[in-house]
Amino acid sequence: MPFGANVMSSNADLQARREAAVPRGVGNATQVYAQRAVNAEVWDVEGRRYVDFAGGIAVLNTGHGHPKVMAAVAEQAQRFSHTCFQVMPYEPYVRLAERLNALAPGEEPKKTIFFSTGAEAVENAVKIARAATRRPGIIAFGGAFHGRTMMTMALTGKVVPYKVGFGPFPGEVYHLPFPHDYHGVSVERSLAALADLLKADIEPERVAAVIVEPVQGEGGFNVAPAAFLRELRGVCDRHGILLISDEIQAGMARTGKWFAIEHAAVVPDLITCAKSLAGGFPLSAVIGKAAIMDAVAPGGLGGTYAGNPIACAAANAVLDVIEEERLLERAEEMGRHIADRLTAMQRRNDMPFIGEVRGLGAMVAMELVKDRMSREPNPQLTKSLTDKAREKGLVLLSCGTGANVIRILVPLTASNAIVDEGLDIIEQSLEELAAA
Ligand code: PMP
Repeated sequence: MPFGANVMSSNADLQARREAAVPRGVGNATQVYAQRAVNAEVWDVEGRRYVDFAGGIAVLNTGHGHPKVMAAVAEQAQRFSHTCFQVMPYEPYVRLAERLNALAPGEEPKKTIFFSTGAEAVENAVKIARAATRRPGIIAFGGAFHGRTMMTMALTGKVVPYKVGFGPFPGEVYHLPFPHDYHGVSVERSLAALADLLKADIEPERVAAVIVEPVQGEGGFNVAPAAFLRELRGVCDRHGILLISDEIQAGMARTGKWFAIEHAAVVPDLITCAKSLAGGFPLSAVIGKAAIMDAVAPGGLGGTYAGNPIACAAANAVLDVIEEERLLERAEEMGRHIADRLTAMQRRNDMPFIGEVRGLGAMVAMELVKDRMSREPNPQLTKSLTDKAREKGLVLLSCGTGANVIRILVPLTASNAIVDEGLDIIEQSLEELAAA
């Protein structure tokens, strides 16, 4: 094929090529091929416009192609795109670390190291926790999602589809039920399970860390109650166990705070972030208390691309945008508006299938059920809704252990008009599905 040929093609053509060339193990939420994107809008290769409520799975809190982020990227690309931080370090990495250290909750001095993916950040948080405590055990939660590498798969609290056929997994990983009233798991039950675990399976002196998402992302936008996170902090403190807050989906202003765990006024020992940190460029971070972060000897951490300079330049610009455009306040306000509109839909007599509307800041979701009494998940309706929304020009994602939660991750830079356009499509789609 001549260079530059066949740039434009139909979605159907591209899908046929994709099926022949790419394994089915990587799923596609849509068969619509992106051509260009601006802020909260995406156009496909056939010129059709979509409102983007997915944000590339929580990556675009500052929107597609934010001019300030793109300018920083262009400038860094002109200087150099790679030296490897381990070979010849560079200022944007150090500056970004300084800024995240200052933003992270807690008074103690912090240090930050960068990687490329969320899973890599979680892997390294576990390495650091083990090195700092000289203990092996890691406690995670049912419904959690921490990544697709071996350790992060082990930590992930959902078998299908993430773990099927991939074992054996690293050992010394334990799961507790995640507290969620709507699913019948109280804070007391989760805490009792923790106490049982420390009696039945592993002594606290062998536990390095508890890892928790303050708001579970893939698991269904389940918000950990503040009282639970505080109790968890207390148990960790009593036994010298580290608390890791996985903020990869919930962090970077999405919930109205830089880090979601701030809502509970809990100071974690380590924080993992990625996704919206660099506005679409691959970058992840482990931020932590300096004494813990320095437990690993030189050479124990790193990676060829880890903390890539272009991604660091993008992330520095993302932090500027969050500050300058007051996106923490914007997340609160947008989240309230989205939650109000979803709650109004829930009150409609023809929409008894909206079981719960929940979230924190602009991390908002609704759970779709067969009926409100049984609360039985309704994954079929959820799939019909995301399909119908796409037909009407909205990219919409589901999540949840029962595949029955609609999550909204629209850029925080989106206008009210775009947010309402997307919400209107959701409401119209549900109306049609209710009438069908
Ligand atoms: N942790 C959480 C909370 C996530 O939501 C994700 C990604 N969905 C990951 C870890 C893994 O990130 P990545 O896909 O970049 O490896």
